[in-house]
Amino acid sequence: SFEAKFEQKGEVPVAVVGDSVRIRQILINLIGNAAKFTQDGYVCLRVISEMDGKERCRMIFEVEDTGIGIPEEQQQAVFDKFHQVNRPGERKYEGTGLGLAICKELTALMHGKLSLRSQVGKGSCFSLELELPVASEVKPEKVNRVVELNSSVLLVEDNHFNQKIAKLALDKLKCSVSMMDNGQDAVDYIAAGNKPDFILMDCQMPGMDGFEATRRIREIDKDIPIIALTADVRRETKDECLEAGMNDYISKPFKLNELTAIVSRNRKG
Ligand code: ATP
Ligand code: MG
Repeated sequence: SFEAKFEQKGEVPVAVVGDSVRIRQILINLIGNAAKFTQDGYVCLRVISEMDGKERCRMIFEVEDTGIGIPEEQQQAVFDKFHQVNRPGERKYEGTGLGLAICKELTALMHGKLSLRSQVGKGSCFSLELELPVASEVKPEKVNRVVELNSSVLLVEDNHFNQKIAKLALDKLKCSVSMMDNGQDAVDYIAAGNKPDFILMDCQMPGMDGFEATRRIREIDKDIPIIALTADVRRETKDECLEAGMNDYISKPFKLNELTAIVSRNRKG
């Protein structure tokens, strides 16, 4: 087993303005990997901050491990979707190869930098670098507190990448998630008598799409709140969701508090 360590360097401002949900998702992925690929030694989360004038702060989050390492020629590719290092003679490791691709996309959304140093047999160090404005004032009511939903949810989404992002968010809201990757399976699941607290339904799916699946589910159950997951914010699409029998819609990727708000307002009783 390994030791879990935390280190902090530099002066940290009282608060910075940033997307705590995205930063946390990235760190969870990186720490998860470090723990998975490390037998002994340590996994260390290091936060290095450096003021850049009075208004901006450069923050570097490093996740360093003493695990199996990544060969030089694969250090770029591990950030690609579904890329896993082939390690002949090593045991199989769980995973789909999406974690780092998600980290890379989230980092880009925040205009940050994600980099890697690694040596086979010695360990790896992933580093997330962000330029964040220093908060001019900290309003307590602005602090994003996650309100846990503690629900059971059916997530219908064909894209594995989006599935994973939604699953991370739902885990955080303490939801237990059943996942279907097409409309027909979702209809069958409800027809079999399952009653999730709510359904998150992707609209565009090959085969039976989210609209058709919703119409069929509504023939079986009129009550379960169905919330459309859509990347498309046009009025027509929203109307189409409601006409199909959905209760509401949320654009992806959604923020935790957005989902909590939408679920609360569509809850029965
Ligand atoms: P998922 O994150 O989807 O569960 P995964 O962990 O295999 O699956 P990534 O997080 O994208 O996928 O990582 C891709 C690959 O990079 C891993 O399969 C592994 O081969 C390599 N890798 C990532 N982090 C480390 C690490 N800390 N040490 C050694 N290898 C790593
Ligand atoms: Mg991973």
